[in-house]
Amino acid sequence: MERDETSVSASGLPRSAVVGVLGGGQLGRMMALAAANMGVRLKCLDPTPDAPASVAADHVVGHFRDAEAIEHFVKSAGVDVLTMEIEHVNTDALAQAAADVKVDIEPSPATIRVIQDKYAQKQHFAAHGVPLPDFRNIKCRGCMEATGRSFGYPFMLKAKRLAYDGRGNYVVRSEADIDAAAAALGGFEVGLYAERFAPFVKELAVMVVRSRDGSVVSYPVVETIHKDNICHVTEAPADVAPALQAKAREVAERAIACLDGAGIFGVEMFLLADGTLLLNEVAPRPHNSGHYTMDACVTSQFENHVRAVLGWPLGETQLNAGCAIMLNILGEADGAAGVRAAHDLMAKAYATPGCNVHWYGKEGMKVGRKVGHINIVAGTRAEARARLGALDPSALASLQ
Ligand code: ATP
Ligand code: MG
Ligand code: MG
Repeated sequence: MERDETSVSASGLPRSAVVGVLGGGQLGRMMALAAANMGVRLKCLDPTPDAPASVAADHVVGHFRDAEAIEHFVKSAGVDVLTMEIEHVNTDALAQAAADVKVDIEPSPATIRVIQDKYAQKQHFAAHGVPLPDFRNIKCRGCMEATGRSFGYPFMLKAKRLAYDGRGNYVVRSEADIDAAAAALGGFEVGLYAERFAPFVKELAVMVVRSRDGSVVSYPVVETIHKDNICHVTEAPADVAPALQAKAREVAERAIACLDGAGIFGVEMFLLADGTLLLNEVAPRPHNSGHYTMDACVTSQFENHVRAVLGWPLGETQLNAGCAIMLNILGEADGAAGVRAAHDLMAKAYATPGCNVHWYGKEGMKVGRKVGHINIVAGTRAEARARLGALDPSALASLQ
């Protein structure tokens, strides 16, 4: 695709750049806030009135899976470059818009198409030599029985599409689980695949930013801790040997180098007891495991995403503190009780050194919902952990 460089002047300084974003949730909001500081306007397409991003972006109400809405957004919004904060978008409409309006889409619709189908994603990375758990297509009950014989139990059954926060995953513990597993994910016809269970000792993640020329730069490695399949705590740098940190960054960079298009990517990995690293999945957008960068790195993941899609020079990725822990603020209850619990946690953060609160401004409170996060920055790991303990002792226990 020919690159439209109109948003960067000859001197390399920005003109009045406009970035269109599909989706206006918390990732769009934090992208919009970063963009505003850079003199870049964001326009987002999101079906929710008062979507979180609307605090700092021009909000167009419409669905990012609706072909007509995407076409209308691209044609009327006057965007220099179109990007996204969610991968579950209509890629056919995107490709059509790219052809009709000649808008630049970053990362490319082809990349989004591969990533949004987790089985296609696995095939792509396997073909490029990225280490993965064994996986296979599942079309019928017989395939699952054969998978159980080959992979052993437990194994993971996963939906190929529309997965997030573990919805779309099922741990198949024995042959007796097969029917329930397939039914829970919507049946064989929705598109399922299986993965060998990875007996990980830690889950790691690396943010990688890819520039328009295809070069990639990674951020420090983080450990991610999940609670009920939802990311709860991250710690940067991960408490693993420096050689392993370097290897994780190398695997993540290799994975993103074999995709097309500019932007930030989140790479999730499993660390096994013998030091083996296996890629779990990639997100073609800012990622929860990169939120610590907002307060702990020279350039946040959101700023680097905007820089990358506009073709600007990328910012530095290193930590500017010894250690950074991110604690998600997850809804503890529906309604007023959940709001009170979130406010109590925020009050503790305001009373603790090194803490920054990021609130997403979502309508309503629900159990398990990501409504904000707290970044804890400190000179040492011990100090950062002590601060986490002051906010949430059970979160500290999950990290140790
Ligand atoms: P996300 O919200 O990160 O997009 P998702 O719904 O796409 O999540 P996965 O990342 O596939 O789901 O899996 C969620 C979690 O389930 C992983 O972080 C890991 O804890 C566990 N898991 C997934 N695949 C495997 C596997 N092959 N072996 C062991 N555990 C796994
Ligand atoms: Mg996922
Ligand atoms: Mg995941």
